[in-house]
Amino acid sequence: MQKGTIGKDLNLAAELLRRGGLVAIPTETVYGLAANALNPDAVLKIFEAKNRPRFNPLIVHVAKANEMAQYAEVPKLARRLAERFCPGPLTLVLRKKPMVPDATTAGNPTVALRVPAHPMAQKLLSLLDFPLAAPSANPSGYVSPVTAEHVAENLGDKVDYILDGGRCQVGIESTVVAVEDGNIRILRAGAITPEMLAEFAPVTLARAGAESGSPGLLPSHYAPKTKLSWGKLETLLEKHRGQNVAVLAFCKAPQKAGIIACEVLSSSGDLREAARNLFAALRRLDAAGADAILAEAVPEEGLGIAINDRLRRAAT
Ligand code: AMP
Ligand code: MG
Repeated sequence: MQKGTIGKDLNLAAELLRRGGLVAIPTETVYGLAANALNPDAVLKIFEAKNRPRFNPLIVHVAKANEMAQYAEVPKLARRLAERFCPGPLTLVLRKKPMVPDATTAGNPTVALRVPAHPMAQKLLSLLDFPLAAPSANPSGYVSPVTAEHVAENLGDKVDYILDGGRCQVGIESTVVAVEDGNIRILRAGAITPEMLAEFAPVTLARAGAESGSPGLLPSHYAPKTKLSWGKLETLLEKHRGQNVAVLAFCKAPQKAGIIACEVLSSSGDLREAARNLFAALRRLDAAGADAILAEAVPEEGLGIAINDRLRRAAT
């Protein structure tokens, strides 16, 4: 079979994964590039295909929250979070058990675990007797994929099969949290917001960079090929006067000379809708041939924290 074939054959996907292959899978957040998380050779293929730095550990996907205990120590607070938010866009960083290979955790003593909610990911995991390591199915540092076609465009020649589960419903990567001494530290913002987590324990938000405690939380990420600036739209338009610009607006398209393409994330100002549209809109703007992409900061609340985080890093 040709690399990068798109289809809906779950049995084929399962067989390829059993043989140590790479299969792109739909999840509710973004498409993942999956391999057997317990097979170091298979896992290495993920790093190679994405050109991902070896120090950046992978998220391990399991079918059910109660399977987490096979691969990690699950303290009480983590169990309560899992009961409330799994399946769903929450990743728990926990102390790993020896059976999880170093290749998967990039040598860390911890492992990141998640239960994806997408029905196809669920079905696939139920066919397998091993968990799936699956980072986003994009070249390292580029905009994440939210359709099977996005995966084919970027990694078509590198994956054995692309399982098509339609458009991702959340559209932005999972919230990654470390659970330490009864506290929750958000390593990456996502659809599970600080307010939702604060019902369970005190919450702190890690800043991007080497000191963050999350090796993959790099200051620069999610970047289109076209240079991107992020902030207040009026200021950005003023600064880029005389250039051909592509605009990523939150709820209203600005009218100004020089705007050759514009995407509105949510005309009703709904942050969920904005998150769902974010990466596809960025990809279309990247293809517009503009001198710069100008991305408007969205309200810094709820899912807006995660959207601004991605845009801030796309601009770095
Ligand atoms: P990706 O799957 O490409 O969206 O990235 C996964 C994210 O989870 C990255 O930011 C990783 O650094 C983070 N992550 C995965 N495993 C761990 C871990 N053991 N400790 C801390 N962060 C982790
Ligand atoms: Mg990623």
